[in-house]
Amino acid sequence: MKKISIVVPCYNEEESIPLFYKEVDKVTEKMQEKAKFEFLFVNDGSKDKTLEELRKLAKKDDRVRYISFSRNFGKEAAMYAGLENAKGDYVTTMDADLQDPPSLLEEMFDTLETGEYDCCATKSTSRNGYSFLRKTFTKWFYKIIGKLSKTEMVAGARDFRLMTRQMVDAIISMKEYNRYSKGLFSFVGFNTKWIEFENQERVAGTTKWNFWKLFSYAIDGIVAFSTTPLLIAALLGIIFCFIAFVMIIVIIVKTLAFGDPVSGWPSLACIIFFVGGINLFCTGIIGEYLAKTYLETKQRPIYIVKETEESIRKQK
Ligand code: UDP
Ligand code: MG
Repeated sequence: MKKISIVVPCYNEEESIPLFYKEVDKVTEKMQEKAKFEFLFVNDGSKDKTLEELRKLAKKDDRVRYISFSRNFGKEAAMYAGLENAKGDYVTTMDADLQDPPSLLEEMFDTLETGEYDCCATKSTSRNGYSFLRKTFTKWFYKIIGKLSKTEMVAGARDFRLMTRQMVDAIISMKEYNRYSKGLFSFVGFNTKWIEFENQERVAGTTKWNFWKLFSYAIDGIVAFSTTPLLIAALLGIIFCFIAFVMIIVIIVKTLAFGDPVSGWPSLACIIFFVGGINLFCTGIIGEYLAKTYLETKQRPIYIVKETEESIRKQK
């Protein structure tokens, strides 16, 4: 019988975890003829009682495993740790807040069992429950990254997907520090079937993302999967050189024809500001890539483990 690992990144999810476990447990019971299950919770340095909840579950249920980080490393790191440590033949990643409906697992499992697909992914049709600002921002982000990157990013795609061992191994073979999973999933290829569902509201707790976190995540995504912004910077440089060249000729001709009265300093000041701005903007773009390269070359670990369920199992 195939084993499914359910990877769940958790950051301050003490209220959601019991609810999540209860819901998923129902599904595993329904599917017990078909598959075995393993829960792999990743406690991403939560500041509330998440770890205690996980210890409780691990004591109660032998299928429950957990990894607890030494601090908050972010959802990407948590997902990576989960995928790296999952033992199942199929692996899925799910949010702890039940925004990813567990009831879809059976359909996803059946899809992979046909042997036709390596991955069954989900996308939500609406973004109910998210703020207007976030919806607009997300829409624009997908438009921009779609233009900038060759790797296809599916709008509305969630991280909730069931993958074969082969695909999981491909993903964990990419050990980059700046992880952007939506891109990585797409980068590795494999046959993916998409299923859609209506967006769910969080069962408990609050979202862990604020505008600034999302914004820098978006920039990470672009920098990780496209070098086009560098090309844009270079093109801007060329365009401005051309404009300057034309202007020099115009000014020389004008001076020869009409003399050189001193005027036009306001427009000159504007041009200096404008070109200075473009300059800083382009340096910023280059700096962003340089920073990522810098972080990547340090080869720091993506996550650091403080405790796993083995400490519970030993007590028994
Ligand atoms: N999460 C995490 N580390 C973080 C932020 C979030 O492990 O630094 C987890 C969180 O516990 C949840 C999932 O990632 O299980 C998605 O987070 P959230 O529901 O806050 O995001 P949203 O649904 O608002 O996009
Ligand atoms: Mg959520």
